Amino acid sequence: MSEGTTNQPAKANRDELNPFHSMAHQFGLAADLLELDEGTRDVLRQPDRELTVSMPVLKDDGSIEVFTGYRVQHNFSRGPCKGGIRFAPDVNLDEVRALAAWMTWKCSVVDIPFGGGKGGVICDPRNLSKGELERLTRRYTASIMDILGPDRDVPAPDMNTNEQTMAWIMDTYSMHVRRTTTAVVTGKPIAIGGSKGRREATGRGVMLVCREAMKKLGRNPEDTRVVVQGCGNVGGVGALLLHREGYKIVSVSDMYGALYNPEGLDMPAVMDYLRDNGKLEGFSGADYIENEGQLELPCELLIPAATENQITSKNADRIQAELVVEGANGPTTPRGQEILDSRGVMVVPDILANAGGVTVSYFEWVQDRMGYFWTEEIVNSRLEQVMVKSFQSVVKMAERHNVNLRTGAYLVAIDRVARVYRMRGVFA
Ligand code: GLU
Repeated sequence: MSEGTTNQPAKANRDELNPFHSMAHQFGLAADLLELDEGTRDVLRQPDRELTVSMPVLKDDGSIEVFTGYRVQHNFSRGPCKGGIRFAPDVNLDEVRALAAWMTWKCSVVDIPFGGGKGGVICDPRNLSKGELERLTRRYTASIMDILGPDRDVPAPDMNTNEQTMAWIMDTYSMHVRRTTTAVVTGKPIAIGGSKGRREATGRGVMLVCREAMKKLGRNPEDTRVVVQGCGNVGGVGALLLHREGYKIVSVSDMYGALYNPEGLDMPAVMDYLRDNGKLEGFSGADYIENEGQLELPCELLIPAATENQITSKNADRIQAELVVEGANGPTTPRGQEILDSRGVMVVPDILANAGGVTVSYFEWVQDRMGYFWTEEIVNSRLEQVMVKSFQSVVKMAERHNVNLRTGAYLVAIDRVARVYRMRGVFA
């Protein structure tokens, strides 16, 4: 069968959609500008360690199903690996590799003392009961135990995982090491060592970088229409906070469809509706439209906050926004970025724009290790300091090299990791 007749995209397009290739491309551009030597370049391009595990799980009907999971540790020069775990039917090793590397660069951009890691479990959580999810999570934790730990690798929530998942991981790990070890994961419930403000942190970080980028563009929230792809922990919280700042949120979406109201959505009502109904469909204050084309709706600010590969060679020329702030990891392919660049669209890259989550994860890890917990005001004001300072250092770097903000962010990130790498030297 020829490629054109399968469901697979043609080869060039398939490569465009490989997140690890995207990451390598972004890394290469900055490594060239930094004139990074071949050896360091090779080290930083590859993950340090990859673990694939098979996990038998007892289903509610008494049968056994074997699941596959991954944990990739990209780099731990600057500290323990840090990064989420996602549960998704189509998660694959190249995706987890890319996400792990993006975590290294993200932690470095905001200058928190972690390297990058990421986990993935191939499953469809919608088809699993709570008991099955718990058994799968505990078995996954036990299978990757040897490489986890507060000083080794500290997971957190990502797509389809949440505070409950983190509580199970924390408990399973603690049972094995025979002591309560809260700092082995972040994004936990507050009652068991979670941080105030962690749940909202990624969305809050997105709101803060929007504010900084808008200042640079000389725009006011009141005249800014915003389209948000996604309505979860990043998109939903981000949209709510931006609404509170006076922006006009004209569209938000979930996996089934999108709401659209050119006059602006009543975001608190949308979020209440979503909480009560589990989806956006049926909300009365807006039209309900297909997801296809949502990113091309008229707006000034576009926030892709769902998943990878959303702005590509196929649609980038139809994006109407003048500012794109990446809430998701890897939503823009290199080709998509080139097209946006040529059209003068400012893109605040994922490794900066969505770094609020991991920043407060760092605060959570610090609080767990101190056994002393901060107020929400302290968490939020420290988060603000980190986001504003990081935004400024990325802009400064981009201006110095006359490159876009993505390459500016990679320059900041790779330079920091490479310096540490050289300082530590090569262990032999
Ligand atoms: N999954 C989130 C991310 O992609 C959070 C990671 C963390 O807090 O460790 O940044």
